[in-house]
Amino acid sequence: MSSPARRALITGITGQDGSYLADLLLERGYAVWGLVRRSGDGAGWRVAHLADKVTFVEGDVLDQGSLIRALEESQPHEIYHLAAQSFVGRSFREPAHTIEVTGLGTLRMLEAMRMVCPKARLFQASSSEMFGNYTGTVSPSGPFSPRSPYGAAKVLAHNLAVNYREAYGLFVVCGVMFNHESPRRGAEFVTRKVAAAAARIAAGSTEPLYIGNLDARRDWGWAPDYVAGMHAMLQQNTPEDHLLATGSAHSVRELCEQAFAAVDLDWEPHTQVDPAFFRPAEIDVLIGDPAPAEHALGWERTRDFSGLVRGLVEAEVARLRSPGL
Ligand code: NAP
Ligand code: GDP
Repeated sequence: MSSPARRALITGITGQDGSYLADLLLERGYAVWGLVRRSGDGAGWRVAHLADKVTFVEGDVLDQGSLIRALEESQPHEIYHLAAQSFVGRSFREPAHTIEVTGLGTLRMLEAMRMVCPKARLFQASSSEMFGNYTGTVSPSGPFSPRSPYGAAKVLAHNLAVNYREAYGLFVVCGVMFNHESPRRGAEFVTRKVAAAAARIAAGSTEPLYIGNLDARRDWGWAPDYVAGMHAMLQQNTPEDHLLATGSAHSVRELCEQAFAAVDLDWEPHTQVDPAFFRPAEIDVLIGDPAPAEHALGWERTRDFSGLVRGLVEAEVARLRSPGL
């Protein structure tokens, strides 16, 4: 007789990473549960293909009781806590909401875990935004100097996760992830925005791409690789935190060049810098070293920057042809 499936609960399952993680865990034989909000941001399209494969349980990280109930119902071996207000730009406009969801939401999940299933394992989605403009070598323990309410909320959540591990002996692991992208990324993030504009303009649109800071540099990876890293982190013998990054950074300008080149266009005539897309405080460069995660977890990446950008533009071209994609 085969052993019963391991159970995983994913918060943020309707997001980019949650949906890829659900795909991966189902492939690996898990019984997957997903926490969903009744009044979400309309992102159900990312999990439409999972409707009869995942058990959805209603809840909101603003509501402690709903998290307790979700854990009681799912009795998970592994919890992937991905739910967040994850857009830095929005965090400047809605700072208190971002601290509530992204920061205190993690505290509520840790408390629920401590009460209901202290033997489970929890992955906390920490962020490279926590490092701010620090230019020296960074590690999963810092140094942290966030430049946005989102970054500050992630530092709060990260510190609480480490504290619950140390204080209560919970198996909690923080994955400090640099930017990772895919066709399932939110349309407001710069990679998907630029890829969609290149596809639209190649199809005949005359509306330019309005863009912010072209000089910002990010360490952009391929999202499905990062969810494999999350899973690997929860399979460790001891709960050790890791950075997930590619080790190379590219500018928003390079992103525009390559995205438009993928549809045989020159980006400059189609692009206008718009101050509305600049942030009150910017992080100039984010870049991380993947070597420790490669050694400790056998973590690998399957796409470099050029392959990533080409894939994003191809997906947007396909989406224009079949808008349901
Ligand atoms: P995402 O696409 O923005 O997804 C966020 C998820 O959180 C959505 O499922 C959303 O649900 C859910 N959520 C928001 N508010 C909630 C609430 N009050 N209660 C319950 N669920 C709520 O984010 P992502 O790109 O997949 O990222 C996953 C995690 O990794 C996030 O914590 C993010 O901050 C972190 N991270 C991401 C990156 C990256 O580059 N992608 C890098 C570092 C860290 P609705 O559909 O209902 O809105
Ligand atoms: P973030 O790294 O989590 O903030 O991811 P984003 O994709 O939102 O932004 C990445 C970088 O692109 C940041 O430095 C932004 O300031 C920069 N950027 C430049 N123009 C834009 C734009 O039009 N939209 C967004 N979202 N970011 C932009």
